[in-house]
Amino acid sequence: MRLTPRHLDLLSDRLRDLERLTRPVDEETAAALADRWHGLPKHVRTPSQTLGQHAVGCEGTHGVFPKCNLACTPCYHSRDANRVAVSGSHTQSEVRAQMSLLRRRRGPRAHAQLIGGEVSLLPPDDHAATLQIMREHGREPMSMSHGDFDYDYLTALALGPDGKRRLDRLSFAGHFDSLMFGRRGIERPADEAALNPYRQRFAGMFARLRREHGVRFFLAHNMTVTPRNVEQIASVIRDTNSYGFGLFSFQPAAFIGDDRRWHEGYRDTTADTVWAQVEAGAGSRLPFRALQVGDERCNRTTYGFYVGADYFPILDDEDPADLAVRDAFLRYFGGISFSGTPVPLLLAKVARVVARHPRSVAPFAGWLARTARAVGLRRLLRHRSIRPVTFVMHSFMDAADVAPAWRAMQQGQISDDPRIAETQQRLAACSYAMAHPETGELVPACVQHSVLGPAENVALRALLPLTPVSHRRAEAGADA
Ligand code: SF4
Repeated sequence: MRLTPRHLDLLSDRLRDLERLTRPVDEETAAALADRWHGLPKHVRTPSQTLGQHAVGCEGTHGVFPKCNLACTPCYHSRDANRVAVSGSHTQSEVRAQMSLLRRRRGPRAHAQLIGGEVSLLPPDDHAATLQIMREHGREPMSMSHGDFDYDYLTALALGPDGKRRLDRLSFAGHFDSLMFGRRGIERPADEAALNPYRQRFAGMFARLRREHGVRFFLAHNMTVTPRNVEQIASVIRDTNSYGFGLFSFQPAAFIGDDRRWHEGYRDTTADTVWAQVEAGAGSRLPFRALQVGDERCNRTTYGFYVGADYFPILDDEDPADLAVRDAFLRYFGGISFSGTPVPLLLAKVARVVARHPRSVAPFAGWLARTARAVGLRRLLRHRSIRPVTFVMHSFMDAADVAPAWRAMQQGQISDDPRIAETQQRLAACSYAMAHPETGELVPACVQHSVLGPAENVALRALLPLTPVSHRRAEAGADA
């Protein structure tokens, strides 16, 4: 066949498209990362910082379905949240508006939590449509739930009314702890261990969904920590690490949200006490300074994997060779979306990096050899599987600190009260943003829960009342 100029034009268009598609980091993502990096305060612009070097941070929704049918102590939502009716159309339109602002401000790719009250109170079709909206905006959604729903709900979510699979992959975070009341079958758990069958049942539903319908999944386990359950963390991890959770997140309780649900001296538990318990559960030191997400006082993260009952962190923050691997990863592969990219495309992107920087692979070869030695061939052959698991601690701040800190930040002031100044530093480095399309602002989740949530829920209560009010009653209420 003779190639005509038109053939050559078409061929060159295709090659250009292919080049753009397999570019390790597209221009928009690179710009969003650079913007994020330059917007961070100096104290967190360190070699270990992932914000701006690898990701833009996590995102969450707000005011999209505030109601919940369990009671947590503490609960981060204001007292009016439970007086707002669930409305699928409200959820979808609000999520669309919030995601489009995040897409504009934070670039084409991010992880976002579909969070509010309880996500499973949304009818399955609305839930599925909302996840779809999030994906259309380049967000990898995670539904935040107390996990007290049935397999029928999960199948209706994943399959749709025609019985055909409409979602190939689901991400859920299940919140389980003994400070939550009202779970079916265990209204007031005696301790954390009593909840293990419920944790297992939750994870088991997803395994069944994959078996029966081929829906892949990622599960996180969330647990609020107070002095009452802190010493049970280790046994929760030991007992449940094989259930199928890919991430365990621990949140030391803070004085935010509904003050009727503040029951303990939360500040008696320090971050170090909580982390020591997490380490005891993992049976390993958990280095959290190799890769940092925002401010260390907000987040500690350790990436690693289990082989059998033994946990291996992937990077040791005290080993210079591992830190060199971290540096090579962020320098050459930072910004590549590893979780949201189809494998063949991901391989093409990685291959382009390696072709351009052949020396980039050297630190990884050394890391592989060290890790293989640490795990040992015998252990690997005995268990024949590697289970990636990440440990996270996220420490929200108290409303009494966040409110004045945020007020001062809005006026461009740095507080001379050291406690409030520290709060401002953490807010400025926040890794968990919520979008306000009405103002064009992105705010830290701490600010949402401490400052903006109460008024938002009062307005939502009027917009979406729990029971329809008669005209006369509404007028009487307006006059009162
Ligand atoms: S939401 Fe609050 S605790 Fe979490 S990262 Fe942001 S500022 Fe820190």
